[in-house]
Amino acid sequence: MTDLTTPIRTPEDADAALRPRSLAEFVGQAAARENLRIFIEAAKARADALDHVLFYGPPGLGKTTLAQIVAKELGVGFRSTSGPVIAKAGDLAALLTNLEDGDVLFIDEIHRLSPAVEEILYPAMEDRALDIMIGEGPSARSVRIDLPKFTLVGATTRQGLLTTPLRDRFGIPVRLNFYTHAELEQVISRAARLLSLPIAPDGALEIARRARGTPRIAGRLLRRVRDFATVAGHAIVDAKAADAALNRLEVDALGLDAMDRRYLTMIADIYRGGPVGVETLAAGLSEPRDTIEDVIEPYLLQAGLIARTARGRMLNASAWKHLGLNPPAGSQD
Ligand code: ADP
Repeated sequence: MTDLTTPIRTPEDADAALRPRSLAEFVGQAAARENLRIFIEAAKARADALDHVLFYGPPGLGKTTLAQIVAKELGVGFRSTSGPVIAKAGDLAALLTNLEDGDVLFIDEIHRLSPAVEEILYPAMEDRALDIMIGEGPSARSVRIDLPKFTLVGATTRQGLLTTPLRDRFGIPVRLNFYTHAELEQVISRAARLLSLPIAPDGALEIARRARGTPRIAGRLLRRVRDFATVAGHAIVDAKAADAALNRLEVDALGLDAMDRRYLTMIADIYRGGPVGVETLAAGLSEPRDTIEDVIEPYLLQAGLIARTARGRMLNASAWKHLGLNPPAGSQD
């Protein structure tokens, strides 16, 4: 993946100014938003902590943003960490015991917690308690410490990556989907306003069409288009200016980048359209299997370019067309 269209976070995205701060400002994911609004209102009415929430879906769709919004809408504190950062059970215990009543603890990449740390989380989520062993040998005993009523908000790219006991402890699982072009157009227009960048509706739509259904990519493309517009002296970004900039950035008409095209071309050229197993593709592309499954494939599947079958990945007719190639005679499409 080139840096430009990878949905994975880069330091530039730390530009927190663009993050929506309330459910009302958050564009898209209508069903998830409405459900969250009701659960948050109910928790507030009962003066209780919100049940634990799990956000899952491809990177860059707004999981971290929604976690922050949940805390803000509840009017509680927000603590944030991530699965790989919590090395020892004691690290998590320290985090949990420092929470205040009602606080949101956000754990990004929660599927990457070590088993020892995950064990601590079960009683913490279920009974809001910590079981700690004191001493060693025959005199060792377990002490239970009560925790404040907190809400755990977890984020992961795929729900199936979580162990079943962990997954079962989330009362509110929320799946995030790719955004429509119209939704991304709104995200882009809003971001352009915040960046004081004059943009025409057709300019915003052109970027939206090529942002892989992902707000993070939309924001990044907008910044690069802004650079081109500044240098070219355009007073306003219209469709023509956006198209010229995106072509120079090698983002094609469907928003696919060089890595996506390598993936598709490999299945076309070497495997005659598939089926081919994901491990074989990972080896051929020198990318980890996780990157293929979590970052590259979800959008290609959603766009209908590939199909996932029991025997492996296959190109659909639209992929051959997009690559400008003819499918081999006798292929299914
Ligand atoms: P994730 O945690 O799923 O990887 P983030 O919450 O970090 O994604 O969002 C990535 C970027 O996209 C952030 O900079 C955020 O401002 C922007 N973003 C995400 N969802 C929306 C949305 N619904 N409306 C506007 N901007 C969004």
